[in-house]
Amino acid sequence: MPAPLDRKIRRILWPAQEPELADAGRAGEVVIARGRLFVAALLALPGVITWIRFPNNLQGPIGIALALVATAVGFPILRRAHRGEGGNYLGLSSVLLDITLITLYQLLLLLGGDAESALHSRITFTLYALAITVSALRYDGRLVRVAGLLAVGEYLGLIAWANASGHVYDALGHRISGSGLRSQLEYSIILLTATALASVIVDRAQVLRLSGIRDPLTQLANRGYFHERAHQELARTARTSRPSTIAMLDIDHFKVVNDHHGHAAGDLVLITFASVLRSTLRASDLIARLGGEEFAVLLPETSLENARITLEAIRATLRETHVPLASGKTVQVTFSAGIAVWPQDGTGVLKLLQVADDRLLAGKRGGRDVVVAVG
Ligand code: GH3
Ligand code: MG
Ligand code: MG
Repeated sequence: MPAPLDRKIRRILWPAQEPELADAGRAGEVVIARGRLFVAALLALPGVITWIRFPNNLQGPIGIALALVATAVGFPILRRAHRGEGGNYLGLSSVLLDITLITLYQLLLLLGGDAESALHSRITFTLYALAITVSALRYDGRLVRVAGLLAVGEYLGLIAWANASGHVYDALGHRISGSGLRSQLEYSIILLTATALASVIVDRAQVLRLSGIRDPLTQLANRGYFHERAHQELARTARTSRPSTIAMLDIDHFKVVNDHHGHAAGDLVLITFASVLRSTLRASDLIARLGGEEFAVLLPETSLENARITLEAIRATLRETHVPLASGKTVQVTFSAGIAVWPQDGTGVLKLLQVADDRLLAGKRGGRDVVVAVG
């Protein structure tokens, strides 16, 4: 059934992100949140100096006020980013905050009668470009595009309003240079170029990140990423005190598949096995190919008994799965698995993997095609 129109539109405007990139995005959000506080403090300083030297100049107090707002809102954002809370909405609201604060600064200058500074301030314009560029740290092209379009939209909106309301003339009634259409187009083109550049940086970074953490054959997580994520997940679920399970799975007599049908057929079996795991397990479960025909899964907040039921379901599905080969033949495989549970069998990833592996070996010795959860 074709996807409804609204879902198609949403997929174009707001395509789904690879879940593995969310981690990197969260780390980027922390860097941005820290940077925002740093820039706010830095910008408050020239504001104070301007205020002392030119008490009648509005740039000083407005700069200080906005630096204070950025700091007041910046701290809760930093705290949430640190805790990994907020997801997409944190990124979106943090983009909105940065761009809108810059626009607000210009608006306040205009309202205060300092159109010259508002329309010529190199600082505000540079800050727009900076906010767009650093948004690449969120590893999310969607947020980069939001930042760019928002900056151009708010900037042009402000200039249009300034023109319409007669804020573009100096004290002598002359039109302020830089308020005309040509300058605005030039500024907008630079901002859109910064947006395109940041989008390309994000695309390249995403490809690099994914190639470093995924197994190229099955597209599952690799061993390194499994260890990293499993460690984080166990730390998270430890706070809920609910049990979590780790299982090791190994395809039985896989060498025979290679020997009888060739290496390409073996690869096809591995790809099929990975897709069976993906379709049976939850999106929140972590699945990895540790190497060869060995896989590991982490089932967060899942008891030993429920993990056993899940793995038995995978065993049943695999029994029904006949992998069609290029030769026209089909091949069917089984697997053996060992399960270990947090915290009874251990509290660290390595220990749990070792217990799961011992049980897997017991299953192999006992005749294969079995899920072992005790021993
Ligand atoms: P057991 O039931 O005891 O697990 O036996 P097995 O044959 O599955 O295990 P064994 O360790 O003897 O053989 C694993 C084979 O997996 C050997 C290796 O050539 C093959 N292999 C490892 N990586 C790949 C791969 O990426 N593609 C293919 N086709 N084969 C692979
Ligand atoms: Mg094997
Ligand atoms: Mg093996």
